[in-house]
Amino acid sequence: MSNNIRLRFAPSPTGPLHIGGLRTALYNYLISKNLGGDFIIRIEDTDSNRFNKNAEKHIMESLEWCGIFPDESPTIGGPFGPYRQSERKDFYSKMIDDLIDKGDAYYAFDQTNELDELRKASEKSGEIFIYNWENRMNFKNSLTLSKDESKSYIDKGDYVIRYKTYDEKQGSEITVSDEIRGNIKINLKLLDDKIIFKKDGMPTYHLANVVDDHDMKISHVVRGEEWLPSLPLHYLLYKSFNWEPPKFAHLPLILKPSGKGKLSKRDGEKYGIPVYPISWKEPGIEFKGFKEIGFESTALVNFISLIGWNPGDEKEVFSLDELINQFSIERIIKGGAKYDYDKALWFNQEHIKKISTDKISVRALNESDITKEINVKKIDDLISLAKDRVNFQMEILNECKKIICYDKKEIRSNSKEIKLTENILGIIEDFIKKLEQIDNITPNKLKEIYFDMLKNNDVKIGQGMKSLRVLLTGKTSGPDLFTLTEILGKDKIVIRLKKSMNIIND
Ligand code: GLU
Repeated sequence: MSNNIRLRFAPSPTGPLHIGGLRTALYNYLISKNLGGDFIIRIEDTDSNRFNKNAEKHIMESLEWCGIFPDESPTIGGPFGPYRQSERKDFYSKMIDDLIDKGDAYYAFDQTNELDELRKASEKSGEIFIYNWENRMNFKNSLTLSKDESKSYIDKGDYVIRYKTYDEKQGSEITVSDEIRGNIKINLKLLDDKIIFKKDGMPTYHLANVVDDHDMKISHVVRGEEWLPSLPLHYLLYKSFNWEPPKFAHLPLILKPSGKGKLSKRDGEKYGIPVYPISWKEPGIEFKGFKEIGFESTALVNFISLIGWNPGDEKEVFSLDELINQFSIERIIKGGAKYDYDKALWFNQEHIKKISTDKISVRALNESDITKEINVKKIDDLISLAKDRVNFQMEILNECKKIICYDKKEIRSNSKEIKLTENILGIIEDFIKKLEQIDNITPNKLKEIYFDMLKNNDVKIGQGMKSLRVLLTGKTSGPDLFTLTEILGKDKIVIRLKKSMNIIND
């Protein structure tokens, strides 16, 4: 597509994709598709210390499971590749040279231990160490050392490159703008001279991210709130390069189930809830994902779409296509929203209700526990009844069996439990006789007959229903009894009631 709308999801492969990252990917996808544009995946693997070799696979498979397919990515390629930053080193070197030539960046030769000591000393006196316009001339860098001295460090590769965030020749205040939060004023004097190029020959996130977003013609940068503090630096980099910045939107935090603080990966274990779309294995431990627990991917997508976005009306259950139609940056909320697992289960139930029963029916036909109890024509009705009563699709067949099974032991124990009276037993005897005389019977007719009998014998409806349920199914609770009678059919009802009466009279 070429309408200039291009959004990207740019994960760092440092670990598994959690639901925060998935939401960022989803929102980028939804906005791009809503505006008829392209969705790009770029892997930001410039941090070799934190690189995890299984992460990219986990990220890609999670997105695929959720139906979030990119138009361009490391796997499928595209016109702006490569899509892995480790393969784009040349792009960054060129831009670094440009910044140095312009005087917007400089080489710094300070050793890590020297800076660490300064950091510790500042901490002791209750201050935060910052390397910036106020003190950069006190350090070992290309602004303070002679050309020759600098060159000897540079030749050894013993340097980092820092961005000159502020100097006294420029104004100290800039205004950055965020699509969700509006304009934000920043005092540049308070910021540090961030490292944009590391000793290992790789750019840091900040430089690589800006260069790539520009090169890949990204129109909107939509990312987590934790990147908001980096926005001023990114703005300045765009300015240094004389590039038009994209639109920025920083998404609200996903909060812990308690509503207090940002949801972390550890909260999964702490609260016993999934935080990854698909399972993630580490030596000695496996974290189960939403998929393996039994969630529908459509339910997960729906659930996270609403953590941070308000559709503006009462509607809550959305398919991916409906989300694409309705999603907009304008309705993303500013404040954090909490992860409510019960709500996730509720979404799953809603999405299960929408699944067609065909596949499940085929499986049910192989279950003799089910087919010996009901006419195969009633299998779909039974599945619909079961679908409303489970959290996960994989529980449906068992629920069907539970609803439909007839268990003598349960009849015995539960009929004692609910204390069946002579009066009720007499009604049931009459009810059986009445049913035997009628050929076709609708659930409504059956209900009418039974309720009339209860009324004529002064038995409360509740008690009558419970008794009939126990005698028909052995259970004290379950789905709507008269819907169930329709699934069982009149003949089976009569057989079961007669059997139960025998069991009780035994
Ligand atoms: N690589 C960054 C991350 O892991 C991307 C941030 C951005 O989207 O600019 O979140």
